[in-house]
Amino acid sequence: KAVQVAIDGPAGAGKSTIAKKIAKELNYIYIDTGAMYRALTFHVLRSGTPLHLEEEIIKLAKETSIVFEDGNIYLNQINVNEEVRSNEVSVNVSFIAQIPEVREILVAMQKTIAANHNVVMDGRDIGTNVLPNATLKIFLTASVKERARRRYQELHKNGTNDINLEEIEDQIQRRDEIDAGRSCSPLVKAEDAILIDTTGLAIDEVCSKIIKLLNK
Ligand code: C5P
Repeated sequence: KAVQVAIDGPAGAGKSTIAKKIAKELNYIYIDTGAMYRALTFHVLRSGTPLHLEEEIIKLAKETSIVFEDGNIYLNQINVNEEVRSNEVSVNVSFIAQIPEVREILVAMQKTIAANHNVVMDGRDIGTNVLPNATLKIFLTASVKERARRRYQELHKNGTNDINLEEIEDQIQRRDEIDAGRSCSPLVKAEDAILIDTTGLAIDEVCSKIIKLLNK
């Protein structure tokens, strides 16, 4: 039976960094489900589809190939790693992700991958909805200040300098509110998930904690 590690939590809690590292260490497949929602959002924005036309967005979701593989996100077979990290995508993705039919399509893809491979999957609804029987469920959090600081550093490292820390904190908070407040699979800790607050913790500390839990 495939081993499934589900890692959920709000934006900037360290999910992708930690999930990637654990997957590498265990030789499991890493799936960044946020990148999948981001890829669709990029596609919708680029196509000029107005965001209130849900039917159009659902149609696009059905017609589009979205694949996360070997640390890369592909939209119709084209690598869009950089495009999906843009600020425009970040501020619009939660809106697209709250459309139930969109979630249905992406969740089906995520379930299929996890049925056949040992995976570490990160997102918002992995423990609650995508992999309810996961081997191990982790819910990562950190203070909003810490999460904003991490995103800020990440953006600056990638050459984005036109946004300040306060704006990022605002955006993160708004995204968390939409993700936690939506009616379809909201961001919430699964009852059987283990809560880890990563504020002030080193990445390696969090990883070894999770691997220890998995080996228990
Ligand atoms: O993880 P990341 O910040 O890249 O996710 C971007 C957005 O995608 C989230 O804010 C959320 O709106 C959506 N998402 C989701 N369900 C997931 C993963 C991401 O709704 N499993």
